[in-house]
Amino acid sequence: MPLVSMRQLLDEAAKGGYGVGAFNVNDMEQIQAIMGAAKETNSPVIIQASRGARQFAQDKYLFHLILAAAELNPEIPIAMHQDHGNSFETCKSAIELGYTSVMMDGSLKEDGKTPASFDENVAVTKKVVDFAHPRGVTVEGEIGVLGGVEDGHGAGGSGLEHITDPDQAVEFAERTGVDALAIAIGTSHGAYKFTKKPDGSVLKMDVLIKIHQRLPNTHLVMHGSSSVPKDLQDIVNEYGGKLKETWGVPVEEIQLGIRNGVRKINVDTDNRLAMTGAIRKVLWTQPEKFDPRDYMKPAREAMQKVVATRMTQFGQAGHAGDYKPVTIAEIAKGYADGSLTTKPLVAAR
Ligand SMILES: [Zn+2]
Repeated sequence: MPLVSMRQLLDEAAKGGYGVGAFNVNDMEQIQAIMGAAKETNSPVIIQASRGARQFAQDKYLFHLILAAAELNPEIPIAMHQDHGNSFETCKSAIELGYTSVMMDGSLKEDGKTPASFDENVAVTKKVVDFAHPRGVTVEGEIGVLGGVEDGHGAGGSGLEHITDPDQAVEFAERTGVDALAIAIGTSHGAYKFTKKPDGSVLKMDVLIKIHQRLPNTHLVMHGSSSVPKDLQDIVNEYGGKLKETWGVPVEEIQLGIRNGVRKINVDTDNRLAMTGAIRKVLWTQPEKFDPRDYMKPAREAMQKVVATRMTQFGQAGHAGDYKPVTIAEIAKGYADGSLTTKPLVAAR
């Protein structure tokens, strides 16, 4: 199956009332882990690459690995997504390469660090939408600013500094025509999200619910949504790691989000922890080993296990065969003739 539109994946997820995990990749083993999990659970899936990943792997390596995943798994709908595009040019280059979806994160300026103004965000996001939709490519925007830094991208600080304002979310969706909207509700990128199990004072699920009430048909995206489970932290530390104690977003909060319009959930840290723990365990307990396959195989298996668990928890498991993916060209036609609406339904306050 060729790569498919993320818009179609999310529209189908909305119909089915489930969420779709978006998993970050840098290399072959991670792509194989995700595809192994998607096959095992019969799930549609979003594979995403940050700017850092594209740089690390080189565009062509990464893209052709993902094409191989699509070729080898014709029964699994796969959307290939640019995570946190920092500029029009970044998104354009992903689209020209063949990505079927891009995130334009205009919440930050092009440096990927400084918060941008609302109008700057609207302008650059709209520009990406105008370029992407005629090509059948999906666009995710972001309103509000997440905490933390990952892959050199982020404003840093706590996730509470720039929580999304629901009225601004409505205006942003109306003015840009994005297909999916990432919102800031207190989460942060990276492993260090919360210093204790998060409650309503730091994880603003009430804001998410308010935004969903105003924009009932808009696909919401949760970033910084690894759960950072203690057992994965423990394996790393048991075999010589030095992670500080930390808390992520509990799965039940993500599930509450999914009941309230969240259709895409970004997960990266949990997979990094799983792989690192597995590699550390081999190198620590069997120091005579030197064949990379001796630790990459358990690393891949550990990541596959986490991804399969998330797919089941998010509800996408079992849904790979629910629908027939349409081509990107047909999606482009849908945007042009208005059958794929980019005008959000807005409910009164
Ligand atoms: Zn993110």
